[in-house]
Amino acid sequence: MENQSSMNWPLIAPCGINCGICMVYLREKKNCQGCNGIDDAKPAHCIKCSIKNCEIIKENKYTLCNECNKFPCSRIKRLDKRYRTNYKMSIIENLEHIKSMGIREFIKNEIVRWTCKSCGGIICVHKGYCQNCNEKK
Ligand code: SF4
Ligand code: SF4
Ligand SMILES: [Zn+2]
Repeated sequence: MENQSSMNWPLIAPCGINCGICMVYLREKKNCQGCNGIDDAKPAHCIKCSIKNCEIIKENKYTLCNECNKFPCSRIKRLDKRYRTNYKMSIIENLEHIKSMGIREFIKNEIVRWTCKSCGGIICVHKGYCQNCNEKK
């Protein structure tokens, strides 16, 4: 899977996760289409996610939580802590970067950040290594 073509704007979930580097998105069979995609292959925890289903997002038609004046709310902080601890990635930082630099620049940086230096494949945030050659980040 080529990084350049696979990472784009709709793959950024409202919480700031880049679904393009998620192991469920990257797997070969029955892969998830991302938080903003159809629910078919989405894991249950992503379907009933309290951030994705937040009333404030729905009422205001927000694309991302950084548009909300409660950001970062307790749900976002909890998820951020989990990602920082387990996967060395901050969703709060992602959303702050999108706000300051814009989505295009953010995606450009994401492509550089998650492209394997050895083979150009995609590094999975959850596994911490390249999907293609198993090289660690
Ligand atoms: S499993 Fe969840 S985090 Fe992963 S791609 Fe699907 S919606 Fe995104
Ligand atoms: S930051 Fe705002 S929109 Fe996002 S989950 Fe929290 S309360 Fe809802
Ligand atoms: Zn690689």
